[in-house]
Amino acid sequence: MSHLTKKDRLAIRAALEEQRANLLHGLKAALEESGQTQYAAVLGKSSGDSADEALAVTLGNLSAARMDHEVRSLQAMEDAAGRLDSPDFGICEDCGAHIPAARLIANPTATRCVACQERHEHTYTGQTHGSL
Ligand SMILES: [Zn+2]
Repeated sequence: MSHLTKKDRLAIRAALEEQRANLLHGLKAALEESGQTQYAAVLGKSSGDSADEALAVTLGNLSAARMDHEVRSLQAMEDAAGRLDSPDFGICEDCGAHIPAARLIANPTATRCVACQERHEHTYTGQTHGSL
């Protein structure tokens, strides 16, 4: 069983929806600014039957449009939304620890506990954080 209550999951889903809406809004604005209105139009109607499919196609095109960071964030959100109801959601993918609900609400796409995330970032960026 998951450590997350139904209430936790609802809060996480709400946070996820809000972040997703913000990101889509930002993407749409960036696309409109750069004149790629055909993609912006798809993002504008991001609900409905064919919206998911259209979104997937759009995301593929956006990758080519060098918006990799935003697209990856959005894909992580889609992924998190899909996993939210699974028993594995909120389990650290590195050590198997329960990721606290508060962390998931603040960062619904988190797939690692704080300790593992920091280790992961150190490993991949080679950066050392200043002392806190
Ligand atoms: Zn961990």
